[in-house]
Amino acid sequence: MTTARFDIVLPDYVVHTLRVIEDAGFEAWCVGGGVRDALLNRDVHDYDIATSAPWQAAEEAFLRQNIPVHHTGTKHGTITAVVQDHAIEITTYRVDGTYSDGRRPDSVEFTQSIEEDLIRRDFTINALAYHPDRGVLDSCNGLNDLEQGIIRAVGDPGKRFTEDGLRILRGCRFASQLGFSIEPKTLEAMKTFKMRLSKVSAERITHEMDALLLGNHVYDALMESIDVLGAIMPEIVACKGFDQHTPYHIYDVWEHTAWVVQRTPATRLGRWAALFHDIGKPAACFMEGERAHFFGHAKLSVVLARSIMQRLLFSPAFTSRVLTLVRAHDDTIAATPKSVRRALARLDGDVELFDTLCDLKLADALAHSSLSEPRIQLARELKQVLVDVIEQQDAFTIKQLAINGDDVMALGVPAGPAVGEALEAALDAVIDEHVPNERAALLEFLRKR
Ligand code: ATP
Ligand code: MG
Repeated sequence: MTTARFDIVLPDYVVHTLRVIEDAGFEAWCVGGGVRDALLNRDVHDYDIATSAPWQAAEEAFLRQNIPVHHTGTKHGTITAVVQDHAIEITTYRVDGTYSDGRRPDSVEFTQSIEEDLIRRDFTINALAYHPDRGVLDSCNGLNDLEQGIIRAVGDPGKRFTEDGLRILRGCRFASQLGFSIEPKTLEAMKTFKMRLSKVSAERITHEMDALLLGNHVYDALMESIDVLGAIMPEIVACKGFDQHTPYHIYDVWEHTAWVVQRTPATRLGRWAALFHDIGKPAACFMEGERAHFFGHAKLSVVLARSIMQRLLFSPAFTSRVLTLVRAHDDTIAATPKSVRRALARLDGDVELFDTLCDLKLADALAHSSLSEPRIQLARELKQVLVDVIEQQDAFTIKQLAINGDDVMALGVPAGPAVGEALEAALDAVIDEHVPNERAALLEFLRKR
């Protein structure tokens, strides 16, 4: 057993979990992402335990201590104990059987060897085990890769990705979250076997893509993984190397996109919109002499993004918000209260959506050549005007008007669509500052209409 000394301070409940199993006469280690992240001094969101104990024996040990246990995956040897109010997964050491569906093992076999359990894991940095008395167990050479910032498959990468295609996307996701580079043979195998991703469910793909897009190093990850990502989003491939032939751009469409994603604040909404904002550009491109134009590209981006989002089973509500941003990313909005209120009205008063649009516009402008300095300025001003409009409680939705439908009907307007039309007209007048948002003034305005 090669163990190395590294200090991780495990939370009490994790140490207690290890002790309960060991006091029952078995071996237990902390494994997986928790060890990786603790060694990297990153926040750990869950600690997993691997043990020589069959799950039934582990369950017995916990129940003897009055610790509740849930059967969360006993077929694969996993139970979840609730220790000091924390749910923690405990899995019996296992060796995966053959893989015939390209995603899950046909069977798993339990083993007494932690080393055998570690060797079935996807990447060396995820194949480390830790114990407070015994230190780090590094039988797959993960520590060196952790120090060097390398994502390397455990064993033969081609074989590992053939077994389970999801690992390919997990690798890209870790690159984005950790800022690690993918070891050349591992990257080559990811590309060679990318079509294995077609065996992976849309939900798992979306889950990994969410994490990839939200990573702190998403620019590098997108640049490194474009060839792989084409297997799940063929619509993006044409962006790679697509020269923009304009003095406003210094990057091809894909590199520009990668920068825009990186510079958009890390929200799921903003990052997906950034990923898609220019995918229609290669199709919209036409040349005028040496100069390329992309008129109407936002509309084509919407068409392509919609088909990706439908395939990946995004909710209709999220899809609609992302597509609104993609559609509007290139619209000109003047940095004036009037124009901001109008834009907010067009977005049904969705302030978060408008705020994200400002972020996207700024990130977009920052990823242009220096000729786009005025666009950067404009995007910054737009955000400030939004703050002002909200602070002053300006109206930009019918709900915020000082009158309502009853007031309109009291003026003699018959119930029905005419009431909505009158309120729309009142809102327009308020947005354009023709009438103040005051009851008397609005009623007067409607009377004269
Ligand atoms: P995070 O929880 O931060 O998303 P993680 O590495 O902990 O990352 P989990 O899905 O929680 O990922 O899995 C826990 C551990 O199980 C991993 O660290 C790895 O050792 C192993 N593992 C997970 N998925 C796979 C897989 N598809 N193939 C091989 N091993 C895997
Ligand atoms: Mg985890």
